Formats: sequence, structure tokens, C-alpha cells
Amino acid sequence: MPIIYHDILALQAALRPYRSEQQIALVPTMGNLHEGHLELVKIAKQHADIVVVSIFVNPTQFGAGEDFDSYPRTLDADVAKLASVDTDYVFAPSVAEMYELLPPPTIISAGAITTELCGKSRPTHFDGVGIVVSKLFNIVQPDAAIFGQKDYQQLAIIKQLVRDLSYPIDIIAAPIVRAPDGLALSSRNQYLSPSEREIAPILHQELQSLAQQIIAESYSEKGLSVLVAQSRERLSKAGFIIDYLEVKTTQLDKVSANNKQDLIILAAAWLGRARLLDNQLVVAG
Ligand code: AMP
Repeated sequence: MPIIYHDILALQAALRPYRSEQQIALVPTMGNLHEGHLELVKIAKQHADIVVVSIFVNPTQFGAGEDFDSYPRTLDADVAKLASVDTDYVFAPSVAEMYELLPPPTIISAGAITTELCGKSRPTHFDGVGIVVSKLFNIVQPDAAIFGQKDYQQLAIIKQLVRDLSYPIDIIAAPIVRAPDGLALSSRNQYLSPSEREIAPILHQELQSLAQQIIAESYSEKGLSVLVAQSRERLSKAGFIIDYLEVKTTQLDKVSANNKQDLIILAAAWLGRARLLDNQLVVAG
């Protein structure tokens, strides 16, 4: 069983003896763990001797009216799942242990990248991610940290944070883990009603077919906007309320005549109470 710490100083004391000879990896999560999270832990194990999983529903990344209060908190079940993948330590702090003041007066903002895609409808979200990830990096001081590609924009922001603040941490990206019908696993999928759950995989199917169409149209810029509009239309008809559906370069730059390959389709769409997030690389073959 992993050892659970709720206090920063106690966790740091436990990790100190390993620092000189062993590699430590951190997997930050908000808990309510599923196979996607466990995959991150398995990848962490391949890169380090000691794996720390943090479980913290971080209030600063939720906006007013979002699901901070109702977000599922299932620590006992999470710890049992983490035991099955050989996790060494769980760090599950209280809000008071992490933040003396809310909102914290210090701001870690990654700038322009935080205002697009998810940032348009969640304008404070990535500043909240910035501060909690910085704190977790400083508390755990890991050699590596693992993040899922499902949250593609978050991953890009964290890579930028590590570059800009010179954190000596390898950021490792983990592929998206999906249900057998293609729906990207997410703690928020449980907000779906049974009938919404049946519709939900259409999002992934649509992104896959859009990727194929972009390739078939030879990445033509004009074609791109028409194809995206048609995809939006089909998703709306299926019952999704689209937050965004955009095609970007894999660096999250605007697509132009000079960089029209290495593309990624990114989407967020509401289905009932659940905001589903997904993305799809556009790769030929
Ligand atoms: P969360 O608990 O939702 O904040 O996610 C914690 C970490 O798990 C983040 O790095 C996510 O990108 C990652 N993650 C969540 N769902 C998946 C998934 N289906 N596949 C891969 N990684 C995931």
C-alpha cells in the first residue's frame, strides 16, 4: 500500500533520504482515479524509483459556478487503485495546507497561451493550474512529472512553465486512455446520464473523421474551415453544445500556409452537465 501524507513537511521528510541516489517522479491528479491516471503511474514507474501521486481538488483552477464542490472525492478507493500499480507515496493535502489565503496573492500566469481554447470559457483556470503545479513541483521536487495528453493545452502550459522558471524536471507526456467505445476517460464522465453516455463517443469519432478529411483534402486551408464547420454542425445535431472545435499546429500556433502539417484538432463540448475534452493528432497513414 502507498504511504499517505497530508502534510507538506512530513512528505518532504519522507522523500529526503531518496534524493541523492534515486529518481522521484510525480503524478499530479485531482483524484477519483481511473485507468488513465493509473497509466500515468505506470509510465512514472518506468522513469523513476519512487512515485508520488498527488490527489488534490485544487480550488484555484475552478471558476465561479463550476463544479469544485461537487467534484467527486474518493480517497480510499483511489488509494486502493494506486496500490495495484505500486505507487510509493500519496500526497493528499487539505486546501488549508496548500493555501494560506484564497485566492493566493501570488500569480503564476503562462501568458497568451492561457487565453485561448479552454482559456476562453475558463479565463482563470490556467493561472490556477500554474500555481498548484508550481507548488507541487516545489514541495515534491521530482526528477520527472507525468501529465496526460488529454489535457493538451495544460501540457503545453506546463512545458512552458518548466522552461520559463527553469524547473529541473523532465515533463513526460502520456497518451490518452479511452473506453472501448473511444470516449476519453475522465472523472467528469460520471456526470453523463445513461443516454448521454451513449452519445459521448461521437465526439472522438467526429475528431477522427475530421482528421481523415483534412488529410484527404491535402491540408488545404480553405477546406479546413469548411470541414470544421461541418463537424461542428454534426456535433450540435448529435446533442453537443460546443465550447470550441479548433485545428492548430501541435505547438498550438495558428495554422498557416507555412505550417500546415503536424496539426492537432482540439475540442471541448458540453453534453448535459459534463464538459468533455478531447483531441486528435492529424497524422497521415
Ligand atoms: P485530473 O485528475 O483530471 O486533473 O487529471 C490528472 C492527470 O491525468 C492529468 O495529467 C490528465 O491529463 C491525466 N489524465 C486524465 N484523464 C486521462 C486520460 N483519459 N488519458 C490520459 N491521461 C489522463
